Amino acid sequence: MVYLDGAMMIPLLRGIAMWKCMHCGLEVMFQAVEPEVDNDGCHFICPGCEGRNPLANVSGNDSIVLAQPD
Ligand SMILES: [Zn+2]
Repeated sequence: MVYLDGAMMIPLLRGIAMWKCMHCGLEVMFQAVEPEVDNDGCHFICPGCEGRNPLANVSGNDSIVLAQPD
């Protein structure tokens, strides 16, 4: 497991700083969860249901900018 220290996270929810769990619908402050990366890509683990939620790197350069796909 690798934590993406310093990664920027930009939820695509009209500026609302929340992730929304695709499994249980829980909305989580994005500062409250650590994005993780493994062989299947970036994701965060929902603190409510422990479900895996994929994140996409939307950066156009060498930096890491994570966003939650629609
Ligand atoms: Zn959940």
